[in-house]
Amino acid sequence: MTAPAELLDRLRAIVGPAHVIVDERLEDYEHDGTFLQHALTAAVLPNRTEEVAEVVRLCAATQTPITSRGAGSGLVGGPVPLSGGIVLSLERFTELEIDSANLMAVAGAGVINGDLDAAAAEHGLMYPPDPASKLISTIGGNVACNSGGPHCLKYGLTADYVVGMTVVLADGSVLELGGRLRKRSSGYRMMQLFVGSEGTLGIVTQVIVKLVPRPRHHATAMVGFATIEDAADAVRRVLQSGHFPAALEMLNRATLEIVGHLLPAGFRNDHEAVLVIEQDGNDPDQVLEQLAGMVEILDGIDNRVAQSEAEREGIWKARRHLGHAMVELRQNVFSEDIGVPISKVPEMVHRFQALAEKHNLRMPVVAHAGDGNLHPTLLFEEEQRHLVGPVAAQIFRDAVELGGTVSAEHGLGALKRDFAALEHSAEEIGWWRRLKDLYDPLGILNPHKIFPEQPADDHFLDNQPGWGRKLAGGRDRAEVAT
Ligand SMILES: Cc1cc2nc3c(=O)[nH]c(=O)nc-3n(C[C@H](O)[C@H](O)[C@H](O)COP(=O)(O)OP(=O)(O)OC[C@H]3O[C@@H](n4cnc5c(N)ncnc54)[C@H](O)[C@@H]3O)c2cc1C
Repeated sequence: MTAPAELLDRLRAIVGPAHVIVDERLEDYEHDGTFLQHALTAAVLPNRTEEVAEVVRLCAATQTPITSRGAGSGLVGGPVPLSGGIVLSLERFTELEIDSANLMAVAGAGVINGDLDAAAAEHGLMYPPDPASKLISTIGGNVACNSGGPHCLKYGLTADYVVGMTVVLADGSVLELGGRLRKRSSGYRMMQLFVGSEGTLGIVTQVIVKLVPRPRHHATAMVGFATIEDAADAVRRVLQSGHFPAALEMLNRATLEIVGHLLPAGFRNDHEAVLVIEQDGNDPDQVLEQLAGMVEILDGIDNRVAQSEAEREGIWKARRHLGHAMVELRQNVFSEDIGVPISKVPEMVHRFQALAEKHNLRMPVVAHAGDGNLHPTLLFEEEQRHLVGPVAAQIFRDAVELGGTVSAEHGLGALKRDFAALEHSAEEIGWWRRLKDLYDPLGILNPHKIFPEQPADDHFLDNQPGWGRKLAGGRDRAEVAT
C-alpha cells in the first residue's frame, strides 16, 4: 500500500483538501448503528461520479480497501471499514430530480429516503419503500441493503423500484445501467446484482427509481387477539380474502407491556397479540369501507378504527414507540430482522417466547406480519450480556429451520456474514465468490462483509464493547426511527 501521506495527497488532489477527513471527525466514519468499530486512514467525500472513479483507480493501484458509506445507519456493521483503508462517503451526492412526466426520481446516492419521498409528494407522487430509518438513511444505502418497511407489503421493496443506476466498478470504470423505463425485458438484469450487494461489487453514485401515485387517504385500525395463532390466522384470512392492506403489523404481549400506555383509550393492553392494519386510496369512504371489511375478517376480541388523523397517528406511535421506550428505560438492546414464511409466524413467535423464558430475558417482538418479517429485540441487564450471542444464534437457526432468512431487511454485513452458510448452500456461495472475483478481483471493495469467514457459532458477539451504540453525530438510533 502507498504510504498514507502520499495516498492522502493524491486523494486531496482528486476531491479537494476539504473533502478528505483525517481529524477527530473520523470517529463518525468508524462505525454504523452497531457496536462494531474500526480505524481508517481517511474518509473521502467526492461529489461527482468521475471523482469516485478516480479515487477507486487510485485505491486499486495502491491496493487500498474502500468501504462505501451512506448515512451509517446500518445495523450489521456494513459500512465499518474492517480492513482500514478509506471510507468513501456518498453524503455529498444529494442532487434530486423528480421527473413527474415519467413517474421517476433521479437521485444521487446520498439523497435521504424521506427527502426523496417528500419531494415526490409535492408532485402527488410517492416513493413507497419506508424503512423506519427513512429520515436518515440514504437511497444508496437502501439500494445496497435492499431495505424495506411497513408499507412494503403492498408496494414492494427497494429492489422493486430501482430501474436505473450509475455504478463505479472496482477498476474505476463507470457502468450506466437501465433508465427511465418502467418496463424492459432486453438482456440480463445486471443492476439487480448491485441491489443488496452491500457495497461489495461496486459503488452506486446515482439511482433512478419508480414513483407511484400518492394515495390521498389512509385509514388505520388496531385489533387485539387472545393468542398469537389467532392473530396469524387472521393475517392469513385477510390476505386470502381479496383485500390487500397497505400495512399489516404485529406487536406481541411483551411489546404491549412496554408501549401499552400509548394504546387508544379503552383498548386492552393484555392481549397476546395486536395487529395494526392500514388501508390507503383516494376515496375516503371506500378506504374506510375496505378497512372496516378487513377488521371484520380479522375478527379480533377488541378493535379500534381510528376516527381522526390524530387517532391514526396515535396507533402508529404505539407501533413505533418501542425503540424510544428502550432509550427511556436505558436498557441494553439487541434487535434482529429475521424472516419466515407467513404461515410460520406463530411458530417463530413461540420459539422467541421459549428462548426468552429459558434465559430469563425480555423479548418484545414487532413484526411486518404480512411479510413474515419479525424484529425480536433482546432486552438485557449487564450480567446477561453473555446470553445474547447464543440466543441470537438460536434465533437465526430457528428462522432457517422454518424455511426463513437470517435477514429480511438489514443485510449480512459483518455481524451476520458467518450465518450466511446456514441459509445458502455452499454451491450458491461459491457462485457469489465467482461474481465477487469477477467484479472485484483485488478484493478492495468492502472486505470482510457478506462472505462467511468462520463457522457460525454462539460466540459471534463475544468480547464486543457494547450494544446499541449511538449513530454518527451522537444521535440515538431509536430517536431517529420514524
Ligand atoms: C433506527 C433505525 C431503524 C432502522 N429501520 C430499518 C427498517 O425499518 N428497514 C430496513 O431495511 N433497515 C432499517 N434500518 C437499517 C438501515 O437504516 C438500512 O440498512 C439503510 O438502508 C442503511 O442506509 P445508510 O445510508 O445508512 O447506509 P450505511 O449504513 O452507510 O451503509 C449500509 C451498507 O450499504 C453500503 N453502501 C452504502 N451506500 C452505498 C453506495 N452508494 N454504494 C454501494 N454501497 C453502499 C455500505 O457499504 C454498507 O454495507 C434501521 C436503522 C436504524 C438505525
